[in-house]
Amino acid sequence: MDKMFDLILIGRGLSNLLFISQYLKAHQNLKILILEKNKKIDERFISTWQGPGLIDLKKEYNIFPIQSFNEISVSEKNNKIKRKIKPYKYQTYQYSEIINILLNQIKARGIKILYSEVSQIKENKKYVSVSTNKEIYKAKYVLNSSPRHETNIDKSEPMLYQYFIGTTIKKNKDHNIKECQLMNFIQADKEIAFNYVIPFNHNSLLVETTAFGRLKNFDNLEKLHQISLTQYKTFKSLSVEKGIIPMSISQSFKRTNRIIPTGISGGFARPSSGYLLLRAATWAKESKNKNLNQIVFKEKIITHFLDKVFIKACYFYPDLAPEIFMKLFNAKCIQSIIRFLADIPSYKDLIHLIKTSPKKIMIYALFK
Ligand SMILES: Cc1cc2nc3c(=O)[nH]c(=O)nc-3n(C[C@H](O)[C@H](O)[C@H](O)COP(=O)(O)OP(=O)(O)OC[C@H]3O[C@@H](n4cnc5c(N)ncnc54)[C@H](O)[C@@H]3O)c2cc1C
Repeated sequence: MDKMFDLILIGRGLSNLLFISQYLKAHQNLKILILEKNKKIDERFISTWQGPGLIDLKKEYNIFPIQSFNEISVSEKNNKIKRKIKPYKYQTYQYSEIINILLNQIKARGIKILYSEVSQIKENKKYVSVSTNKEIYKAKYVLNSSPRHETNIDKSEPMLYQYFIGTTIKKNKDHNIKECQLMNFIQADKEIAFNYVIPFNHNSLLVETTAFGRLKNFDNLEKLHQISLTQYKTFKSLSVEKGIIPMSISQSFKRTNRIIPTGISGGFARPSSGYLLLRAATWAKESKNKNLNQIVFKEKIITHFLDKVFIKACYFYPDLAPEIFMKLFNAKCIQSIIRFLADIPSYKDLIHLIKTSPKKIMIYALFK
């Protein structure tokens, strides 16, 4: 095989495949190689908002949700807020299904995928060399979604880890399938912890226990998760998923001349929520007509600033976090909050968000 390419993608994951499926629409003749270390595709669930003003995943990528909700809930102790979110929807997708659909689209255009782990990337003036344990490939540009092991995070600034354990369970008793439980806060020492529940049908659901913490204490999270599962009494565990996403506003995602970081290592995950799918899909569409030397993935200044205040509030005042979320989800106009979470807030939405949030906590956090 000729080892010189126009573009090499490191990782056959969500962000790279969303990008390339759009990019190929405007750049048909590029010589592209995808290098992926794992042949097996992860089994996990990915959720996102859909609705007016948001990129339509069905239309743009031909991907379909396995579940769609018009109603969400957020609870703390005995206080439960249920909100109808029309015209928006909260939708859940199967990661492996998205990857397979995108892979088929890409393979149909003759793009090669090789299963090999990239061990080294070296950039010089004219090209980038990408080494696996078998070969060295060269490319004019590289999209790199391999994790950078937090080397890009400035740890002197407040940062949290969002880490989670989710179990898909099958149970006998019927469950309300209309409502997705976004957050049900639970007691945790010096951390924010909550359960997130996605029902797939009347007797199978994903129960995820998530913590926002300064450290990643998976042993403790596992205990909280097992306690949370006991409420379902008799059930069968179908699968388990785990993850860690850094919640930091002081990460550097800068591209070099020829290497463009993508995915979590490229700032595609929203710092305050860890959600990536929508942003990755939107940024992919926005960059499809650009040349590879012009592409810069960057979040909006205002959402970055508000995320910073929010992360600081959660970092310094974890006990007060449930109050912040309860107030936000109780907002007069829930659609404004959704547009903010989905990265497309208008100025009116931002004013509504600021009016709704507990100002005292936010102002204290800002000046910490
Ligand atoms: C369990 C879980 C649940 C999540 N839920 C949601 C959700 O509901 N909504 C949401 O928006 N986001 C969610 N996320 C966050 C985010 O959307 C996903 O993690 C998403 O898959 C990240 O996209 P990515 O392209 O950065 O990485 P991935 O999709 O993980 O792709 C990276 C690929 O690169 C490969 N790779 C890495 N290193 C190398 C190397 N050196 N050489 C070759 N290949 C390499 C990996 O094997 C992988 O296939 C979740 C994350 C996890 C872990």
